Order: sequence, then structure tokens, then C-alpha cells
Amino acid sequence: MREKKYDYLIVGAGLFGSVFAHEMTKRSKKCLVIDKRTHLGGNVYCEQKEGINIHKYGAHIFHTNDKRVWDYVNQFATFNNYINSPLSLSKGTLYNLPFNMNTFYKLWGTKTPEEAKEIITEQIAKYGTKSPKNLEQQALSLVGKDIYETLIKEYTEKQWGKKATELPAFIIKRLPVRYTYNNNYFNDIYQGIPIGGYNTIIDGLLKGIDTKTSVDFFEDRADLELLADAIVYTGKIDEFFDYKYGQLEYRSLRFEHELHEIENYQGNAVINYNDAAYAFTRIIEHKHFEFGKQEKTIITKEYPEGWNRSKEAYYPINNDRNQEIFKKYKEASQKSKNVIFGGRLAEYRYYDMHQIIASSLTKVEEISGSER
Ligand code: FAD
Ligand code: UDP
Repeated sequence: MREKKYDYLIVGAGLFGSVFAHEMTKRSKKCLVIDKRTHLGGNVYCEQKEGINIHKYGAHIFHTNDKRVWDYVNQFATFNNYINSPLSLSKGTLYNLPFNMNTFYKLWGTKTPEEAKEIITEQIAKYGTKSPKNLEQQALSLVGKDIYETLIKEYTEKQWGKKATELPAFIIKRLPVRYTYNNNYFNDIYQGIPIGGYNTIIDGLLKGIDTKTSVDFFEDRADLELLADAIVYTGKIDEFFDYKYGQLEYRSLRFEHELHEIENYQGNAVINYNDAAYAFTRIIEHKHFEFGKQEKTIITKEYPEGWNRSKEAYYPINNDRNQEIFKKYKEASQKSKNVIFGGRLAEYRYYDMHQIIASSLTKVEEISGSER
């Protein structure tokens, strides 16, 4: 007979925890999912207002090359054909992202890939470096000076609260450069927004599973630990170990939502604001993710902010100092019996949704495989 009420206590009802709970429930395990927030879903949670799904924790666009993950999410929701095509406002002019032939035409009037390549190659030769050591050097070596100064420098410094010369190079490797007139921000085969919002997926994953919101694991740790044979922890890894090796750093965000009594505010779901003169980095107009025709519209301004323990941790700052600290926590986590660590906060990594789903599925398979 089972001694404890649950096989797994899952701390955090984000995608990692929800996929884990779903898969283990399918394997006849009993799960309890708790979250300290007032709702399930973690950062993909949507709030409905005026018939519009508001991406409460910032714009979330699902994209993946992994057919297994795409088929997985399609069990729970139907995806629309939204393609992310953000624009960026810089010194009064709107440019297409990611950097492509439309961007180059607006910047230099170049019409052919050859003309654009000539300018970029010339600028890379003049301003680039062989082995870039920081974000500025990396950007100059990838796209040259004009694009860096028009569309990257001020945005990046606002986003991270640091000079581009003090930031790691890898951050900018995410941005594609294309010599076609293609404004699709992502290169992946599969992309879209779940019709009805992300809550549809979370509701499907957690159907029939015990859940409790507004429960902070650390406020009732001893009692909660008694409930289950094992814990799946998706919160901050340093907090789990009471910060014994020091505190990991993050970048936070503040979201300001505004209702406007007009049908269409900016004509696109995402517009980035490059210039330092604007404290926010982007404005999201949520209805455009789902081609909404509502009479009103809701927009969200995204302000990057410094982080402290009272704020939400959005982006890990993966510099050398933090990686050193994380390494110690990771070693401690590998020694923790009956605790599984997963998700963006416990792994201290910027993960996209499809990566989190893949990582949770892999974790379940590892555990199920070793039990067999
Ligand atoms: P989370 O969703 O953060 O879930 C962890 C949960 O644990 C939280 O709900 C938290 O409240 C809970 N928790 C923490 N500590 C405790 C505790 N002590 N007790 C109880 N509960 C606790 N990905 C994409 O694929 N496409 C995008 O366009 C995209 N845009 C993004 C935009 C922004 C601004 C951000 C920040 C992220 C974006 N992402 C995007 C990434 C995506 O949000 C993550 O990959 C995914 O949500 C991570 O899931 P998770 O379960 O690891 O974490
Ligand atoms: N970035 C930029 N200009 C832009 C958009 C992004 O310089 O208009 C840089 C910036 O450094 C940012 C990184 O690219 O941190 C990744 O941006 P992306 O929008 O891909 O990631 P997100 O912030 O949505 O996670």
C-alpha cells in the first residue's frame, strides 16, 4: 500500500511541470501540482479581456522544428497560421525584422541580395573581429555597423541594463540574417498560436490532475514534502538550496497593459522600440496574434527592469560569474535524492516553449525507463 498520498509533488504549473504531470498521470502515477501564483500555466498563461487573449507575461509565439513536440501540443489545441513578423521603430522609421532584404532596402535602398551583401561584407570587414568577445563585437562581425547602430545597440542595452561591450556574444546569435524578402522571425518549420490561447494547452495537460494555486513551496516545505515520494522542482534552483552558494542574477520585466477604445492600435502584434528615449522595448497588440476583430484593443508595453527577490525572474544572466555559481547548485541538485529539477528556473537557462516540452518529455522517459 502507498504510504504517501502522491507519487509526485510538482512545484510549478508552467509547461515543464504540466507536461511532467500529464505524462506521469498517463503512466498511472498520482501527481499534485502546486504553484505560488494565483493561476496555472506559468509564463504562458493568458488572461481573457474584451474577448482577447492577453499574453500576461509577454508575447509567446510557438515555433519548433521538432515534429514530436508539434504533434504533442496539437493534441491539446489547434494552432492558427500566425507568423511572427515584428517591426522595429528606430529614429522615426519602421524597419522589418529579422534582418532581411526589406530591412536592407529601407536602410540603404538596396534592391538585390548582391547589393545588400556588398554593403554588409564591407562593414563587417571594417568593423568586425575574428573572435568576438562581447555582444558589440559579435553584432559588428555579423551584420556591420549600420544595422548594429540602428536596430541592435540601444534595444539591447535597454533590455539588459548593461553596455553592449559588457554583454556575452551569444545573446545576439539568436537573430537571423536573410538575403530574401522574408519577414518571418523564425526559421522553424512549425509555427502558430493556439486558438483560444495557451490556457487551452495547460487545461488539457492538467485535466483530472490535482492542482493547488497560491501555494508557495517554501512557506510550507516540511508538510508538502510529506505528501509525495518525489518532488519535481521547477522554481529557482538557488532558492531551493537556500542560496548557500550565492544568488543567481536575472533580468526582470514590467508589463503595462492598456485598453484602447479603437479597433486597431498599431496594425501588428509586435513592434519593437529600439531607441533609448523609450523606456519600453516593445508594444504587443494581443488581438493580432489571433487575427481578432473585436471593437476594442489591448496593448502591453514591456519595460525591462533590474531584478531582486521580490520580482519575477524572466531572463537568466548567463555570464561567467553566474555560471560558476550555477555549477555548484547543479552538482548539489544531482546529489539530491528524490528531487527532479527541470524548467527554465531550475536549469538556469533561457528555454523556448518547445525546448521545455522536449526536456520534460525526455525527463519522464528517463525516469520511466529506469523504473522498468
Ligand atoms: P515557468 O512558466 O516560469 O513555470 C514555473 C512556475 O513555477 C511558475 O508558474 C512559478 O510561479 C512556479 N514557482 C516557482 N517557485 C515556486 C515556489 N516556490 N512554489 C510554488 N510555485 C513556484 N518561448 C517561446 O517558445 N516563444 C516565445 O515567443 C517566448 N516568448 C517569451 C517572452 C518572454 C517575455 C519570456 C520571459 C519568455 C518567453 N518564452 C517564449 C519562454 C517561455 O516562457 C518558457 O520557455 C516557458 O514558459 C518555461 O516554462 P517553465 O515551466 O520552465 O517555467
Ligand atoms: N534584439 C535587438 N533588437 C531587436 C530585437 C532583439 O537587438 O529589435 C537583440 C537583443 O539583444 C535581445 C536579443 O536580440 O536580447 C534576443 O531577442 P529576441 O526578441 O529574439 O528574444 P526575446 O527577448 O523575445 O526572448
